[in-house]
Amino acid sequence: MKPRKVSAAAAAALTLALAATACGSDGGGSDDGKKITVGIKFDQPGVGLKTPDGGYQGFDVDVARYVARELGYAPSDVVFKEAKSADRETLLQRGDVDFIAASYSINDERRKKVDFAGPYFLAHQDVLVRAGDDSIKTPADLNDKKLCSVTGSTSAQNVKTKLAPRAQLQEYGGYSECLTGLENGTIDAVTTDDAILAGYAAQDQFKGKFRLGGFKLSDELYGIGVKKGDTELRNRIDAALRKMVQDSEWKKAVEANFGPAGYRSEPPPGLSTPAG
Ligand code: GLU
Repeated sequence: MKPRKVSAAAAAALTLALAATACGSDGGGSDDGKKITVGIKFDQPGVGLKTPDGGYQGFDVDVARYVARELGYAPSDVVFKEAKSADRETLLQRGDVDFIAASYSINDERRKKVDFAGPYFLAHQDVLVRAGDDSIKTPADLNDKKLCSVTGSTSAQNVKTKLAPRAQLQEYGGYSECLTGLENGTIDAVTTDDAILAGYAAQDQFKGKFRLGGFKLSDELYGIGVKKGDTELRNRIDAALRKMVQDSEWKKAVEANFGPAGYRSEPPPGLSTPAG
C-alpha cells in the first residue's frame, strides 16, 4: 500500500465516481481505486483455494477480505497472489504482497524476517494416511514411513527435528502434490496442519480414501504476515481481526469453510468461547 495522496483533479474525479457509486451500484472498488495485494494459498481446499473459474475460497480468503475491507478496500480491490509456504517471507520482504493470510504459523524464526498480526486461528499438525492403513497408530510409527510435506513449512521442520527424524521425508512445493503419492502408495502419510488435511480428505475425488491420525502434534497459531517494521499496518490488521471475532464473522467463516469437511476447529485464540 502506498500513501494516499490525491491531486485536486483526482479528488474531483473521485467525487464524481463516488456520486456514481452511490446511485445503486454494487459498491464498486475502494474510494480511490487502489488495490491491495494479499498472499494466500491457491491449493488448500477450505483454507485458501483458487477455483477453476478464477475465484477464491477458504477461511484465509474470508479473513483476508474482511481485513482488507476494514483497511478501506472493497472485495473488488483485493488482488490475490499465490504464497507458497517457502516463498512467504521473501514475498513480504520484496513488497510483492501487502499482507499474507496463508496458513502462516507464527514462530520466532519467521519473526526475525517478518511481523505478524494475530493470531487468528489455532490448528495442530497431524497426518493423513490411507483409510485402510492401520500401521500408523502413533506418531512414533512415522519413523519407518515415507512422509510427505512441504518445503519451508513448520510441518516439514517438525518432522526433521523432533517428530520422526528417521522418516523418509519427501518435500514438495504444495501439499496437493503429496496427495497423488498418498493415493498411489508411493507416500505413506502426508503431514501438515489438521485444518488443511481435513479439506483434502473431504474432496470428492478422495472421499473415503484417507483418514486423519488425530495426533495433535503441535500448536500452529496462524498470523497475518506483514513487512517487518510496518507496525502501523500490523496494528490495523490486529484491530480488524479482533473485530472479526467479536462481530461473529469469524465464526461464520469457520463454519462455512471447515463445516463441510467436518473439521471442528479450536475457539479463536485468546478467547474462551467455543467456535462451533
Ligand atoms: N502452518 C504451517 C506453516 O506455516 C504449515 C502450513 C503451511 O505450510 O502453510 O508452515
